[in-house]
Amino acid sequence: MKVAVLTNAPVVLSQTTEDGEIEVRISGVTISFISRAVTLSDTLPIQVKSSSHPLYWFLEGIVGAWDRVTGANKGIGYAIVKDLCTKFDGAVYLTARDESRGKTAVSELQKLGLKPNFHQLDVSDINSINTFRDYLQNKYGGLDVLINNAAIAYKHSATEPFGEQAENTHRVNYFNLLDVCHSLFPLLRPHARVVNVSSSMGHLTKIPDQEIRNKFASSSLTEEKLSELVNQFIRLAKKDEHTKYGWPNSSYSVSKVAVSALTIIQQRAFDQDSREDLVVNSVHPGYVKTDMTSWGGHFTAERGAEAPVYLALLGPNISSPKGSYVWHDKKIVDWVHGPTPEAF
Ligand code: NDP
Repeated sequence: MKVAVLTNAPVVLSQTTEDGEIEVRISGVTISFISRAVTLSDTLPIQVKSSSHPLYWFLEGIVGAWDRVTGANKGIGYAIVKDLCTKFDGAVYLTARDESRGKTAVSELQKLGLKPNFHQLDVSDINSINTFRDYLQNKYGGLDVLINNAAIAYKHSATEPFGEQAENTHRVNYFNLLDVCHSLFPLLRPHARVVNVSSSMGHLTKIPDQEIRNKFASSSLTEEKLSELVNQFIRLAKKDEHTKYGWPNSSYSVSKVAVSALTIIQQRAFDQDSREDLVVNSVHPGYVKTDMTSWGGHFTAERGAEAPVYLALLGPNISSPKGSYVWHDKKIVDWVHGPTPEAF
């Protein structure tokens, strides 16, 4: 079978079958095909009415499925895109807040023969998030994989006051991730997979106080209550009283604990969702050599991408991992009680 995919919209596929050449046009959310021999220049739209037609699934695999990674112009996000481009049967989007850095990353991947797409996305800008959502809605009508990778971490040498660090870290790592989810979750299709990149620092035992841990682990925790917990930490951090009240002295750690707690809440909601088989997990990618760790990690970015990509490509109707906290070796770690394996 010969297949040519032109990525400029509308997507056109040319396929040789036993019946002869078939020209296919996909416009917006409409999957179309022409069940007769046509020339390449014909792009007559005809809807696939039955999902039992073999072409339907063929097209679903190529066009209906697409994926997006936030903060992917470098580090683990870049390696995730690279790996997904070889393993994922659909369009892969590398997003970055800085268009020129993002496009440079895409052209590096193109030199390797890969075909990622690019779209600007600043997770700290709600207009940017919603612009991207509308683009995806119009072009694909849905979303199959979402990897929330973008995050920041202040260096130990940072001179900004701790309260300011706490506010900015949670803004990006927790609240902006939440914004992305609120905007893009309505696009998720049945069997969609969401990966929230957490950290070994996101294990619940990183919070010293048992009462606070109980609040994070509560089965009645909601997004609103979780955000309020996070805001409590920020308020105390601004008064430099956070350790006195049982919080750790690391904003990054609290932000990642919040991301893993959010993942559990999100899976609870997915389990009640009318869309079938939605799965979200959080992951510790390992201790990885990137800008974030000042290149002090033990793993390459490619190794760090392994568990996130595994979670992004979980097969249909799996029973586990689901709402889990997953280690870089793909094993599920008990987020509440531990123990936590070595971080690398
Ligand atoms: P990097 O600092 O190398 O990459 C972080 C990425 O996030 C960059 O692409 C950065 O873009 C992007 N980003 C930051 N803020 C925004 C924003 N507002 N909008 C869009 N993108 C943004 O870090 P890593 O690759 O190491 O980290 C990737 C993920 O892995 C993070 O979630 C991190 O917390 C997690 N992690 C990393 C570990 C490690 O050892 N490296 C260990 C455990 C977890 P820009 O270039 O524009 O700043």
